[in-house]
This record gives sequence, C-alpha cells and structure tokens, in this order.
Amino acid sequence: MRSPKTFPFSLILALIIFFPMITFQHPEPIIPVLGFHGIIDSKNNMLRSPQGEMDYPKQDIEKLLEYFITHNYWFLTTQDLYDFFLNKSRKIPTKHRNQKPIMISFDDGYKTIHTSFFPILSKLQKKYGKKVKVVLFINPGTLATSKSIASTHLGCRELREGLRKGFYDIQSHGLNHEDLTKLSRYQLVNELLQSRSQLRKCTHDLDPDDKVAAHFAYPYGAYNKQVKNYTSKYYLSSYLYNDEIVNYGCLKNNYEIPRLMVNRQKSTKQLIEIVEKVDWKKNKEKC
Ligand SMILES: [Zn+2]
Repeated sequence: MRSPKTFPFSLILALIIFFPMITFQHPEPIIPVLGFHGIIDSKNNMLRSPQGEMDYPKQDIEKLLEYFITHNYWFLTTQDLYDFFLNKSRKIPTKHRNQKPIMISFDDGYKTIHTSFFPILSKLQKKYGKKVKVVLFINPGTLATSKSIASTHLGCRELREGLRKGFYDIQSHGLNHEDLTKLSRYQLVNELLQSRSQLRKCTHDLDPDDKVAAHFAYPYGAYNKQVKNYTSKYYLSSYLYNDEIVNYGCLKNNYEIPRLMVNRQKSTKQLIEIVEKVDWKKNKEKC
C-alpha cells in the first residue's frame, strides 16, 4: 500500500519549486494613456469651446479621476513612463509597486484646461491628499499672449502656474500643430526644435532638469519614417493618437506610444471599463 505521506510530500516539493515562479513572474505592463482635448462645463452651454465633440464634460472627468484616485492608480508623467517602463533605467519605487499605472494627457493646450480642469485638480488634492499629474501636449505657436485676451488657448502664465504646483507635465505637440508628414525637412526640424525651445523658454527657471518638452505627441497622430527619425533626434519618446493600448513588453519603438482617443461619446463608465479590463498583473499575452 502507498504510504499516505508520499503524495503530500511530493506536492509540497512541487509547490516549493513552482510557487516562486508563479508569484514572482513579472508580466509586462499594459498602460492605458488617455488622450483628451478641451474640457467643458456641461451645466453651462455658454462655456462650450469651439472644438465640439472633442471636449469632455468637467463633471465627468472629475468623477473619472476620483475613481482612479480611490482605486489605487498611479498617474504617470511622460518621464515616469520612459524611465520605469520603456527604458527601465529606474526601479519602480515600493510605494508604486501595487498601483495600476495610467497616464492622462491633453492635446492642443485649450484654455479650458486651466479655467475648468485646473480647479478640479486642486480640489481633489485637498479632498484626498493626492496630486493628480496630467500631461499637456502643447503647441507654443498657439499660446495666448498678453495681447490675445480672447484666445481659446492657454498662455505661458497658466502653464507656469500648473507646473509650479506640480499638476502639469508640459510636453511638445509641435510649434504650430502642422501635419509633420507634409513638411519639408527644414520645416519639420523647425517645428520640432522651435516647439522645444519656446516651451523651455517659458518654463526655464521652474525646470532645471529640462523635463519640459523632452517628449512629443505627433499632431493629428500623423507620422512616417522621416518624422520619426527627426523626432528621435530631439525627443526621448513620442505618442500616437490611435485608440489603442499596448503591452509594453511588445513595444519595440519609443516613438510609437499608443493612446486612447477620448471624446464626449465615451462615458466615464465606458472609460473605466476599458481601463479596468487591463489587468497587467494577470497579463499572459505573448509578443
Ligand atoms: Zn493636436
């Protein structure tokens, strides 16, 4: 007769061998990057900004951020994503290890970011004691100046305020929001370089490590080989606008980072569902 102790012993042995492999296997993260534009006050139609569909109601984005804060999300900056997940040059700090990484980005620098959204960031910080960091992809060619009071775009002063308070991660979206695939080489370099230098000129004293305009988002999400090559000379990474989420273990190119398109058609409930589906700790996807 088989000894009753044989089976449990072999089971324990198998557990000792395989348990660490199951527990400590680190799947590659899948990080949702949400791409917003302007923000509107849905209770007040007068405040609707002209880009229509692309605007998102401020009441909804507040709900969405509250959900992310209370469900242990980690709001990444472009440099965080680059250092911790793309380049892997820094180890993820212990306090973030059990958090779910996410990035919230806004393109084109609409004034409503500062008038309608910035107060929400301050309010949430007071309520939860947590700072939500958001990425702004800006075209410095469209920045409001002291003469353009009626401008629909942000000015340097607002960017500086958000940066000083630690809410804004200010990055480049090209000088004038041109389709870069349609430009000559000279124009392309000008769009890339001028954008970087003008943004850094606006924030120079607040940004000793040149973290402003170190990363890029292609206007209209449009790029080709030439655009990508030149972008890689002046920026550390670049973002698409293609409504995708990618497994970072599969991402071979730092200049093709996918983003989810967010417009008024996507409710907070739908966005939460999309983001919650991404459980990278259970990710078994192979590249
Ligand atoms: Zn844009």
